[in-house]
Amino acid sequence: MKITRIFAHRVELPLREGNYQWSGGKSVQVFDSTIVGVETDTGLVGFGEVCPLGPFYLPAYADGVRAGLKEIAPHLLGWDPRELSKLNHRMDAALKGHAYVKSGIDIACWDILGQATGMPVCELLGGRFGAKVRLYRAISQEDPAVMAQKVAGYRAEGYTRFQLKVGGDPDTDIQRIHAVRAMLAPSDRLVADANTGWTQHEAVRVVRAVKDVDVYIEQPCLTYEECLAVRRLTNHPFVLDENVDGIDMLLRAKADLAMDVVNLKISKLGGLTKTRQVRDLCVSMGIAMTLEDSWGGDITTAAIAHLAHSTPEEYRFTSTDFNSYVTVSNAQGAPQRVHGFMEASQAPGLGIKPNFSVLGPRLVDVSAR
Ligand code: MG
Repeated sequence: MKITRIFAHRVELPLREGNYQWSGGKSVQVFDSTIVGVETDTGLVGFGEVCPLGPFYLPAYADGVRAGLKEIAPHLLGWDPRELSKLNHRMDAALKGHAYVKSGIDIACWDILGQATGMPVCELLGGRFGAKVRLYRAISQEDPAVMAQKVAGYRAEGYTRFQLKVGGDPDTDIQRIHAVRAMLAPSDRLVADANTGWTQHEAVRVVRAVKDVDVYIEQPCLTYEECLAVRRLTNHPFVLDENVDGIDMLLRAKADLAMDVVNLKISKLGGLTKTRQVRDLCVSMGIAMTLEDSWGGDITTAAIAHLAHSTPEEYRFTSTDFNSYVTVSNAQGAPQRVHGFMEASQAPGLGIKPNFSVLGPRLVDVSAR
């Protein structure tokens, strides 16, 4: 089997709540997502999705996905999409870094491998663990009372895991954490995710002010060293996210005992192949994970579901269903949340079919001439 064409469509994903706000006043109203297609000489076509959280979250931006695909795609024509390690090796030789650019191609090739073998991607990634995957809800940054109200609403829909967007004014963030925890049952889990937004002294103040609250602290500061300093001054369970972008940082953080949970985002790590490698290492080292992506719609949600469902349940801290946050459905067959849980499809590959009617024109189209 050979890759004969790589193409990409842009699709806008407006938010149901109107916008999504997090640390430092960053906000997005409409996500700019890229749907990547990989065509083969057998007629099989696989799909992936890459959707940065705006241009100011990680070193990734939506037009960068498309520009990077134009750069890398000519190097992959004629290669076998089922040979995923070889394909990733090829991508890394052709384009240094830019993990997020490679993510959509890698996901699409897993979709092809699944279709070619008749197996769902989660089974190819190691097997289906348990019946369903528990989800968290991210709560956009607003006034403490509004966030508490939203948590109560989503809790009534079945969610039991919540990730508060903090990383703003520390005094307000302290109120946010107290107000939301007060709405929850003891078994519910609450994460305060500062998305790098606090300086070190602010973070230390916040963790002290909530020291008797049952809350996880996620990525309080910009640098790894600042986060580690805060980690050593708190007894809260601690999550690293933005700083862990590959194996090197994971191993360093493990050696430093810098985290209890790590947040793995498929596009941050460069696709399902590389995320699986990090995921399997976390399982071997006993580190639980939030398994997700930076953002996306139905195709991203399907990829997350397969990744999460193929992870032992005790190491699955949370995942999320991005397709329920947005108003546009970019594919049929994606998992749909049922009372705070989702399941990976039983169909071969990712189990999705893109809704071409909602996609914009092909902005990338590279084929053998
Ligand atoms: Mg995070």
